[in-house]
Amino acid sequence: MGKDIVLAGGGHAHMTVMANCQAYHERGHRVTLISPEDYHYYSGMGPGMLSGIYKPQEIRFNVKKMMEDHHGRFLAGSVNRVNPDTRQLTLDSGETITYDVVSFNVGSGVPDDVSHITNEKIFPVKPILNLLKAKEQITKWPKHGNIRILVVGGGPAGVEVAGNIQKLTSEKRLTSDITIAAGTQLLRKFPEKVRAIVEKSFQRREIKIIKGTHVKTVHEREAVLENGETIKFDFAFLALGVKPPSLFQDSGIPTDKAGGMLVNQYLQSIAHPEIFGGGDCIGLQGQLLEKVGVYAVRENPVLYHNLMACAEGKTLTAFDPGGRYLLIFNLGDGTGIFWRGNWVWNGKLPFHLKDYIDNRFMKRFQVSGERNETEPSL
Ligand SMILES: Cc1cc2nc3c(=O)[nH]c(=O)nc-3n(C[C@H](O)[C@H](O)[C@H](O)COP(=O)(O)OP(=O)(O)OC[C@H]3O[C@@H](n4cnc5c(N)ncnc54)[C@H](O)[C@@H]3O)c2cc1C
Repeated sequence: MGKDIVLAGGGHAHMTVMANCQAYHERGHRVTLISPEDYHYYSGMGPGMLSGIYKPQEIRFNVKKMMEDHHGRFLAGSVNRVNPDTRQLTLDSGETITYDVVSFNVGSGVPDDVSHITNEKIFPVKPILNLLKAKEQITKWPKHGNIRILVVGGGPAGVEVAGNIQKLTSEKRLTSDITIAAGTQLLRKFPEKVRAIVEKSFQRREIKIIKGTHVKTVHEREAVLENGETIKFDFAFLALGVKPPSLFQDSGIPTDKAGGMLVNQYLQSIAHPEIFGGGDCIGLQGQLLEKVGVYAVRENPVLYHNLMACAEGKTLTAFDPGGRYLLIFNLGDGTGIFWRGNWVWNGKLPFHLKDYIDNRFMKRFQVSGERNETEPSL
């Protein structure tokens, strides 16, 4: 008899399962995706959408249609709780769903340590849809008025957002004051050469960098730094790293220190063999993986195989995170920074390479006519 396989979240690690769920159907299984949205936005192209390099429909997957076109089922909602004993998931609506095998790819959020406020002026950089909301607000700003934009966080997401906001405001001919509050150091986990390139680019484009102090609190229109200074803003972006959802801890499922579901080499919960997961919401036992989309993408074939194998009592495949990964930053001025280990390279070519790699990934899983859809308005 076929099994009920449930996908909680239609993120980057579930793409292969979603696009191929007819293969499960042909073997008698039922696959259901539970997702709060019909669309999943690809984060790697999010900053480019903010600046207008990409249209929203170029950077998103219609996960609802992807499921329904391939004999899968789509259920709108968010998973709030798991009960491994009864094999049930509870959704935000209160509805419960029973599973034989479940896989989590619910991503991560931005820590809310400095601000609990999110409104049409303050945007955490995740979910990526927030960048589209921000773009809509900023483009409504009166021409010739000065606009003050603060980006809190000096990691890759903060840098890309700051660079792409500068492109957006300059193309809209807005006079802008853009500040990035980078904490101790801009891109502190990266080589000096990467930092120097970003600093030079931002200096040229008049993006102010604050470092050596952290933002303590973000209020409605003002951020307070640890050194007591304040920064007034019209719009703020929060790019303070990543935080897994509390759902695993709330459900008594073993987690790593950060709260991500602890999984073994098969991407399987260390306590519950019928629970799997991938992407930012997991912690791999014995190896700390950075929260980058690269790993979520690499996990695709393993989850595709293992969910089927678990349902059918077959041998699981182990996940190999692979060696060093490549990141290319989109600086928003037509250039990119290629970073892989100690190899750093910047200019127009790295941006074109990123554009090529990202578009190749999109086209592989945009199997539901996404690019022909009309531009969404929020
Ligand atoms: C601005 C920005 C740029 C980035 N650029 C890059 C890059 O160039 N390269 C790179 O490798 N990494 C990049 N990253 C990191 C990357 O975003 C993450 O590592 C990646 O998104 C992880 O993918 P994921 O599928 O685990 O999570 P997500 O992309 O967050 O997807 C999770 C999905 O689950 C859904 N969901 C959430 N909660 C629930 C729930 N309770 N129930 C059901 N569904 C739920 C969400 O709607 C979403 O569709 C970037 C991050 C940001 C913020």
